[in-house]
Amino acid sequence: MISNRAASTADIKTHTVVIVGGGAAGISVASSIHKRDRNIDIAIIEPATTHHYQPGWTMVGGGVFRPEVTSKPMSDVMPGFVSWYRQTVTSIAQDKNQVDLADGSSLQYKALVLAPGLELNWGAIDGLEPALGTNGVTSNYREGMASYTWEMVQKLKQGTALFSQPPMPIKCAGAPQKAMYLSADYWLKHGVLSNMDIQFHNAGAVLFGVPDYVPALEAYIEKYGIDPNFQSNLIAVNGPARKAVFRTTDPEGNSQDREISFDMLHAVPPQRAPEFIRESTLANEGGWLDLEDDTLRHKTFTNIFGLGDVSGTGNAKTAAAVRKQAPVVAENLVATLHNKPLQAAYLGYGSCPLTVENGRIVLAEFGYGGVLQPSFPTWINDGTQATKAAWWLKAKQLPTLYWYGMLKGHEWLAKPAHRSGLD
Ligand code: FAD
Repeated sequence: MISNRAASTADIKTHTVVIVGGGAAGISVASSIHKRDRNIDIAIIEPATTHHYQPGWTMVGGGVFRPEVTSKPMSDVMPGFVSWYRQTVTSIAQDKNQVDLADGSSLQYKALVLAPGLELNWGAIDGLEPALGTNGVTSNYREGMASYTWEMVQKLKQGTALFSQPPMPIKCAGAPQKAMYLSADYWLKHGVLSNMDIQFHNAGAVLFGVPDYVPALEAYIEKYGIDPNFQSNLIAVNGPARKAVFRTTDPEGNSQDREISFDMLHAVPPQRAPEFIRESTLANEGGWLDLEDDTLRHKTFTNIFGLGDVSGTGNAKTAAAVRKQAPVVAENLVATLHNKPLQAAYLGYGSCPLTVENGRIVLAEFGYGGVLQPSFPTWINDGTQATKAAWWLKAKQLPTLYWYGMLKGHEWLAKPAHRSGLD
């Protein structure tokens, strides 16, 4: 009865479930809801015509994947059972159970799922956005730009390569480093590493937020001769002059700006929730969607759920987190529609496959509070060292798992935990 169609009318239409965003989270949760109850009428609001497998962008930047394998037309991944509105959400009127769209129309819902991802705040770094794609300034975080990273890595035979990491939270917190390790590995294997001055400039104070993985990463910092700089935040870029400015803050809070010339700069911008969430009463103090950590239901509005990068929960913002979150939201949302207690619980799982060299990965898997949550045997995930098996998983298995497992509602390694004695 429900078709995969675009709708744009000034009438207020109603759907049982409205999902905002057709990215990793929106499509996965739609499939997981449908899997539980095929009669639920679901709409997805998503303006983009292309769906990206963003975890593949690191591999494009390292010359491992061709760019085209990381994208598909949105129409290919949009489930046939949803009504697709090719629109942008401008605001949520939760008191009216209503979502307002950029074309002036509105949709009403019984339950709402917010999955619009996050906003890359390129403008927060002076001069960065116009510099991207020229003069060696690149970012694997920018759609279509990971190929330029790979081009720069191959061209560079000597000089200074800077890799920046902004303040947390960001999506895939390991990705700024992954770009650096894969680049350094290429320079090592092509005999030019000794000509390179590689600097990591991290706005944070530690190499990785979960201490268990730090020794393995430090070994690679040493192996590649990388100069690590902490509390050093990229604040400005002059592309034509090939200069970057970093603000370094000492433990006493005194700051100092340092200008560094570069031949290549891999920059990652600060990140925040989309404005229609950030500036609304749905947000927590940090501007992220204010959800219960376990049920993923909004803390105030009981028919609103959320998942993915927009979430204010303290997990790592990754597609791997979405894999575990989607069944939890689906189960709890269906329970809400049937006035049943919420049973499914998300324990904060997130995963970061740290590509420390072409062929080996340190696979970080952890939940809330940095508690390790390995889901693979130690021959794949030995947190203390890089394994070839984890590389095989990332390079050969995870894209298929994403396109044909997660987005289709096959909940591989994603069975929800259950709450006990609550609700
Ligand atoms: P997205 O997939 O970004 O989708 C959000 C969707 O919402 C988009 O389609 C957007 O068009 C839509 N939208 C936005 N605003 C609106 C609006 N107002 N109205 C309607 N629709 C809207 N994760 C891993 O698990 N492993 C990795 O190795 C990994 N590596 C990464 C490397 C890089 C370089 C990057 C950039 C990300 C990486 N990630 C990785 C993170 C992963 O891609 C994200 O965590 C994941 O895509 C989050 O899914 P999401 O649906 O919340 O957001």
